[in-house]
Amino acid sequence: MIAYLKKNGDKAKKPAVFLDRDGTLIHDRPGYYLTDPAKLRFYRHTFKALRLLSRLGYRLIVVTNQSGVGRGYMTLSAAAAINRRMQRDLVKNGAMLDGIYFCPHGPAESCACRKPAPGLVREAAKNHRLDLGNSYLIGDKLSDMRLAGALKLRRVFLKSGHGRSQLKKYPGPLKSLVIKKDLLAAARWIKKSHKTPVTGHKPAKIERA
Ligand SMILES: [Mg+2]
Ligand SMILES: [Zn+2]
Repeated sequence: MIAYLKKNGDKAKKPAVFLDRDGTLIHDRPGYYLTDPAKLRFYRHTFKALRLLSRLGYRLIVVTNQSGVGRGYMTLSAAAAINRRMQRDLVKNGAMLDGIYFCPHGPAESCACRKPAPGLVREAAKNHRLDLGNSYLIGDKLSDMRLAGALKLRRVFLKSGHGRSQLKKYPGPLKSLVIKKDLLAAARWIKKSHKTPVTGHKPAKIERA
């Protein structure tokens, strides 16, 4: 489901950075569903990180699971309002997203868009003419990393949000990934590595921020 889509007439395929929302751009805590736009709290480095990624030429696309809708904790229009509010706050701080895509379904609905299912990324790739082979995904959960792995996106795992607890819970699949302490560290790592061709699959480098 699309909460926001920036139109642009550029015909050339562009790489993107796909961004998880909760625990990546904004504060998140276990068992808590953000249902009120006024309670949205960005990490202090979020604007700077997004401005950097944007300057590097990446489209910025948020892909977020919002099962609070499917679970009945909030309405679809409340979820959309939170995403619109997020975009307004980002624009005020010079950090504009190209799109916000969210899955409103609960885990039992077996939809095609709840991460790690690829629906949101596929929809965005089509709408924005994205070059997935040179794109990244940044998130704080195993489901984000599984989605990136399935679509062969380069991926960065964050220790912010649920990152530290996910690392304890799923050390096997997570510890060999590129791990950064937060979004700004991830953006700086992408800046250093973004000209490296993706061809010739090297095993993931173990990095600790
Ligand atoms: Mg998250
Ligand atoms: Zn869904």
